Amino acid sequence: MIPMVDLKEELNLFRDELYEAVKEVIESGSFILGDKGKQLEVEIAKYIGARYGIGVANGTDALFLSLKACGIGPGDEVITTPFTFFATGEVIANIGATPVFVDIDEKKYNMNPAKVKEAITSKTKAIIVVHLFGRAAEMDSIMELAKKNSLYVIEDACQAIGTKYKGRGIGSIGNIGCFSFFPSKNLGAFGDAGMIVTSDDELYERLLLLRNHGSSVRYHHSLLGYNSRLDEIQAAILLVKFKFLNDFIEKRILIAKRYNEKLKGIVKTPEVLGHFEHTFHQYCIETSERDELMVALEKNGVASAVYYPIPLHLQEAFRYLGYRKGDLPVAEKVAENILALPIGPTLSKEQQDYVVNVVKWFFAKK
Ligand SMILES: *Cc1c(COP(=O)(O)O)cnc(C)c1O
Repeated sequence: MIPMVDLKEELNLFRDELYEAVKEVIESGSFILGDKGKQLEVEIAKYIGARYGIGVANGTDALFLSLKACGIGPGDEVITTPFTFFATGEVIANIGATPVFVDIDEKKYNMNPAKVKEAITSKTKAIIVVHLFGRAAEMDSIMELAKKNSLYVIEDACQAIGTKYKGRGIGSIGNIGCFSFFPSKNLGAFGDAGMIVTSDDELYERLLLLRNHGSSVRYHHSLLGYNSRLDEIQAAILLVKFKFLNDFIEKRILIAKRYNEKLKGIVKTPEVLGHFEHTFHQYCIETSERDELMVALEKNGVASAVYYPIPLHLQEAFRYLGYRKGDLPVAEKVAENILALPIGPTLSKEQQDYVVNVVKWFFAKK
């Protein structure tokens, strides 16, 4: 079976170093808010091009705490995309605000800035922009709208660590950038972990408090916070794997380019952009015969996945918002046709050729 991403194969590249790093933490007896976490915060912030990093428990918490730090709550509206992982919309509702979903661009799969503009009301307080599959969203237009209307911009960069927009690190352009180190992300921990970056002193101070029970001095609590910290074992693992990130991204881009050459004219393929503007967390094609193709791939030992089959505005959990089928037609159509193919950094040319051949054989038989 060719998996979406082969984490076991990856392990062969850094097994000894990882075991040593984990052992070091265990022997140190320091597990929460220690040196490894601090080092990871500094290194990730520098890599992204932001002043501060704040390690948190996962990407979802990164988003939730960011909304909290911006003072967003009941009565506020937050604009975002319906074509994303559920967490993006979930955090808006969980903080007590109202998610406002706007349609996407059919080629980029990110929010259409023209639709964002139409959705801004007097209640709008923030935009959560998602860089889906690792492709940079149109930040210039979004930032201009935000500036004009005094809105916070929170970047959901959970799938886009290392992605650049006009040379700048994704996550450093809005007020706050949120990252996930879920195991299958381009930089994955061996469990849950996440990171927030910002260059704003005030937001930084508030986020440090929010992730740790509102406390900077032990047993003194200046506000109501949460328990959402990145632990030392995950930080040690991430510090080792981080050294491979750029190399892994380059490999993903090469694989994407190769898929594009071989699948041209057969299915709709994604654009490969300039330097790191798309880091291919997922490589997604589109075809109206998506479901049948998936079955054929599965039968021939190739994994594939649908990100995402149901846009957020049509999810049962968001029924109370009153959206109907047809409201956001581009997202709805893409959700019916999209399919992600294997693209891990260890995918060999032979494996990739096999995937391509199954796809070609499927369409030739039609
Ligand atoms: C993975 C992901 C999240 C959530 O991250 P977790 O670490 O799993 O909580 C949020 N948004 C997007 C777009 C994601 O891909």
